[in-house]
Amino acid sequence: MPIQNGAPVPESLYVTTLRQFDRVTDKLGLKPGMRDRLRVPERELTVHFPVMMDSGEIKIFVGYRVQHDTARGPAKGGIRYHPQVDLEEIQALAALMTWKTAVVNLPYGGAKGGVQCSPKEMSRRELERLTRRYTTEISVIIGPEKDIPAPDVYTDAQVMAWMMDTYSMTRGYSVPGVVTGKPLELGGSLGRREAAARGCFFTIQEAARHLSLQIEGARAVVQGFGNVGSIAAKLLQEAGAQVIAVSDSRVGIHNEKGLNVPQIIDYKEKTGSLEGYPQVSYLSNQELLELSCDILVPAAIENQITAENAARIKAKIIAEGANGPTTPEADEILFDQGVFIIPDILANAGGVTVSYFEWVQNLQEFFWTEVEINEKLQATMTRSFQEVLQISQQERVNMRTAAWMLGIHRVARAIELRGIYP
Ligand code: NAD
Repeated sequence: MPIQNGAPVPESLYVTTLRQFDRVTDKLGLKPGMRDRLRVPERELTVHFPVMMDSGEIKIFVGYRVQHDTARGPAKGGIRYHPQVDLEEIQALAALMTWKTAVVNLPYGGAKGGVQCSPKEMSRRELERLTRRYTTEISVIIGPEKDIPAPDVYTDAQVMAWMMDTYSMTRGYSVPGVVTGKPLELGGSLGRREAAARGCFFTIQEAARHLSLQIEGARAVVQGFGNVGSIAAKLLQEAGAQVIAVSDSRVGIHNEKGLNVPQIIDYKEKTGSLEGYPQVSYLSNQELLELSCDILVPAAIENQITAENAARIKAKIIAEGANGPTTPEADEILFDQGVFIIPDILANAGGVTVSYFEWVQNLQEFFWTEVEINEKLQATMTRSFQEVLQISQQERVNMRTAAWMLGIHRVARAIELRGIYP
């Protein structure tokens, strides 16, 4: 690991993703030509575009849309607004989407997009102008049959509404299927907001069954109290687990007797933070990860469980709500300790699964009830978990390697069947 100012610098997601890819393709015995093809994205678009700021100043922004693979169907993946977004990060995230959609067997490829910007420092009107111009710039490669964006870090249903409107204006008619994660009023799907957490919960249920662990009475810890973390905590509590600690970026709160999750959700909504929540003890995010518990759900950001702290993690099940929370070195330490990890490309695939349901509903112009959505989601997550578990047992590999093997195998098979054009 590189060292900077005396401290180890975490490996970039790009390097980690390629290392993992190489390890798995060695195991699969993929032919060199296939490996070379899947190692790089199919298409990368970089756009530099002007936006009029509220001050009247014109600022130039850089944005990306990367389609990693489309052998199994249209590309699918979110749009990230963040000051540190760069092409390599988007390439890595696009590849992860290819493996994720293949693991849960959706008829999609993988993509990701992003704009280098500081959304927290921009007004709503500036964000709208940026979104509309970026959408126009990438409209040459997106579309309901080509590439379907969705929300990611610092983009939300409103941003998707602007994208859908901008794309529709250039076509002359409404095209709701061009993005998912839209507001319900514009063709969004019931259950989409809760989907990533609900899918994660279904995989925890399967893991618990496999390990003969009762969720009722189990002790759970959740890192990150946003969309995924807060809803995962709520679902675990509803299933009878004792949620003993949760955290946001500033602080963790802990009560051995169990926290009242709905009350904490209300508190966080009102105050914007967990700070000041009564009758709990406070702890850091690092202390929270090391608490004695049965189920740990990292649902914040990447690189949280590393070689430095992995040996002190005491959970029996880790369900990766977040993307990339565990480094490859930590993975090995945890595997040796007998910790059962449900990897990100399986555990949080509920989000893209219900995005797929949203797109199908848009194309057929007929909508399902929330009960129907949740049933279909459960069927997808349960089947996918069992398929990954079977590979992990047959090949004697951990669940992450098994999930990557399944995803890469499905994509390679599709490419083989299609053949090489021309
Ligand atoms: P969010 O912005 O709603 O919530 C993120 C939470 O993490 C917040 O509570 C924030 O305070 C906390 N956080 C930020 N930095 C932190 C830090 N350094 N330490 C501890 N907590 C920190 O985001 P989200 O949609 O819940 O996404 C969380 C993770 O799940 C991300 O990795 C995302 O890529 C992944 N994910 C989300 C979805 C989805 O549909 N929302 C789907 C798949 C994967």
